Amino acid sequence: MSVVQNTGETKNWYLPGVFGGLVITFRHLFRNLLNRKKMITLDYPEEKYEYSPRFKGNHVLTVKKDGSLRCTACMLCATNCPAECIKIVAAEHDDPVVEKYPINYEIDILRCVFCGYCEEACPVDAIRLGPEWQTPGLNGSNFVYDIPHLAYRPQLKGGIQSHVDDEERHKAGI
Ligand code: SF4
Ligand code: SF4
Repeated sequence: MSVVQNTGETKNWYLPGVFGGLVITFRHLFRNLLNRKKMITLDYPEEKYEYSPRFKGNHVLTVKKDGSLRCTACMLCATNCPAECIKIVAAEHDDPVVEKYPINYEIDILRCVFCGYCEEACPVDAIRLGPEWQTPGLNGSNFVYDIPHLAYRPQLKGGIQSHVDDEERHKAGI
């Protein structure tokens, strides 16, 4: 087996490639500066990409008409969660019509795999995966989402109402 070493002369041939690369770079730079509407990049965070409505992002706990949590603390979401990142503490409700409700509901978002099984398991549309995907935080506690964050964070503007209504369910006898 023979090894052919590069000689000093062949190094000259890199220069056309370097200049060719710079020409392409500057061509794109000036084209983008002169026609910003056609740029394929976004000015994040001022501009954000619009994902499909089916996108599975940050969780939302929905609310009833009166603003209280829709969740009945049935534990189906926590039982079906493959990452075991949902923790619920249930309590009896003062209203005899409402069997249970969560006094604590937490999702460890760093363990969540955004599979959507919690949403599918819920019988009363109490949990959904919404369109938000930003999960910033300065320390570990910022990544454990509790009831105030899941149901009443400012982006939700007072809460997202569940499709399942108690009055209609009682009228229907379910
Ligand atoms: S999206 Fe999946 S992993 Fe995340 S909390 Fe729901 S069931 Fe668990
Ligand atoms: S979110 Fe839905 S599935 Fe989970 S405990 Fe509440 S009612 Fe049950």
